[in-house]
Amino acid sequence: MQVRDMRMVAPGTTLEADLAIIGTGPAGLSIAREFFGSRVRVILLECGGLAESREVAASEGFESVGAPRVREPRLVRNRVFGGSSHSWSGKCRTFDDIDFERRPWVRFSGWPIGREDVSPYSDRAAELMQLGPNVYDHEMWNILGKARPKRDVSPDLLMPCFWQFARDPKQPMEFLRFGPHFLSQTAENIQAYVHAPVTQLCTDESGRRLTSLEVTPAPGRTVRIVPKIAVLAGGGLENARLLLASRRTRASGVGNQNDLVGRFLMDHPRISLGHYGAKSARAVQARLGLFQLRQRNRTHVYSHGLALSPALQRQKQLLNCAAYLSEHRSEDDPWDALKRLYTRSSPRYLTDMRRAVADPMNLVEGLYQRFAKGRNVRHKVDRLVFDCLVEQQPDPESRVTLSERRDEQGQPIARVNWKISELEKRSVAELASILAQELARIGLGAPIPPAWLAEGGLPESFTDVAHPTGTTRMSDDPAHGVVDRNCRLHEVGNVYVAGSSVFPTASHANPTLMIVSMALRLADWLKHTHFGPTAAEAWKPGAVPA
Ligand SMILES: Cc1cc2nc3c(=O)[nH]c(=O)nc-3n(C[C@H](O)[C@H](O)[C@H](O)COP(=O)(O)OP(=O)(O)OC[C@H]3O[C@@H](n4cnc5c(N)ncnc54)[C@H](O)[C@@H]3O)c2cc1C
Repeated sequence: MQVRDMRMVAPGTTLEADLAIIGTGPAGLSIAREFFGSRVRVILLECGGLAESREVAASEGFESVGAPRVREPRLVRNRVFGGSSHSWSGKCRTFDDIDFERRPWVRFSGWPIGREDVSPYSDRAAELMQLGPNVYDHEMWNILGKARPKRDVSPDLLMPCFWQFARDPKQPMEFLRFGPHFLSQTAENIQAYVHAPVTQLCTDESGRRLTSLEVTPAPGRTVRIVPKIAVLAGGGLENARLLLASRRTRASGVGNQNDLVGRFLMDHPRISLGHYGAKSARAVQARLGLFQLRQRNRTHVYSHGLALSPALQRQKQLLNCAAYLSEHRSEDDPWDALKRLYTRSSPRYLTDMRRAVADPMNLVEGLYQRFAKGRNVRHKVDRLVFDCLVEQQPDPESRVTLSERRDEQGQPIARVNWKISELEKRSVAELASILAQELARIGLGAPIPPAWLAEGGLPESFTDVAHPTGTTRMSDDPAHGVVDRNCRLHEVGNVYVAGSSVFPTASHANPTLMIVSMALRLADWLKHTHFGPTAAEAWKPGAVPA
């Protein structure tokens, strides 16, 4: 793939395209890929470079004025070709049926589309991401060739759930990085630009049609892009920021006639629900740890956890949330020591040498399992922590607005006022106590509870996990959403939005598989509506597509 540096393009240049895609994360690249080799001329615009630069790493990113956020801003918005897949952990799962439903106890819940509309695309997305079977419920036991556990948790209370990890096909120890994967292919109709921050969406006077995009590779230097269609795929915070900051025609920004852009910001609040010590680790991991599936010369890794059952969510009016195990490795874990030695990152070479060879039989057995059988090695753990991710109740006051502070292009950075409600806290507390009760009942013993749970209270402090969602939410009604069911701005006929910002609610599932599924769905819509054999011929510049 040919990639150009926008800083090398003469200021004042105008570039034309059929389709401009702003952002090269999983959403933008999945859409671009669908046009490989077609006659649609695609321009991809990425504000970062091919690698993360020191300036970008040091830049402020956004201003946080709400619930504390622990993730570094540069991680929440990775400015690099490939977007946040540059630093993600590859964990994937589809959404549950209940996630799409309008639930009377969850304000603003309900997607205008159902799971059946997304499922065919999630299978395609799983293939694109080179995942194993796209199955996440108890059917997975069959696929793994294991009997369903005899002493199981009550299905009225807890639902078994699985996740899997998208890994690089050539380097299985690495998670799938969308950027390098994309760049290894060629397509003459696709032109990618790096160092190409889009700073303005320019519309006609009515504000209903995009006329051009302004790119500002350096202060005072502007390149204009004139596309027929633009897709905004800048990530959950930046999609809202760019719409709000494009104030030439309307002071409220583009697509914001009903003051909805930036509202309903959600993440997946994370908290620990308890832990097990090293002694119980093996038994608990055998039941709720990682499982491997060997298929077509590849090893797929699944993790098994437990979620609140839909029945209990309905009965007790709770949100969808799930718990999974995180290993806290021992300082003298031989495999971590070996990895540090191998990657020459060991700060204490001799100590790591001693750790690596302390148990030679374990070393030989582990290497055999890893290289002959393709299985993961067993690490030495100090504790196993039950972490939990909870979806959020959409809240219009949890929002992204524009800060007084400006970035290097002179654009206002995003001000993030993230809010967490009592419903999230109540849902997590319920999951924690049911988990303890059910794990004790099936013989694994209850985990050691955190202080808030032992005292019978509600959790206070959560951490964010860099999954910003909901800021350009989807609805059939322009009074309640920024984009329609096909991800087109209600207000502007030729601008679409891709990424988690269109999700009306966020499930507990990590978002990227859903992001890629929705991106493929959008690509199909664009092909058929705007660029199909008849649509492309019928296209008249200046006309707003029906
Ligand atoms: C540390 C970490 C771990 C994660 N782990 C997981 C996980 O295990 N599972 C999971 O599902 N998700 C995970 N995520 C989240 C996942 O990375 C995101 O959901 C996903 O990358 C979002 O894809 P996207 O294409 O919508 O946006 P992004 O990946 O954010 O990409 C947006 C791109 O657009 C560019 N851009 C933004 N604005 C502009 C502009 N104005 N002009 C030009 N370019 C612009 C940005 O530079 C960026 O490259 C993790 C994220 C982080 C940070």
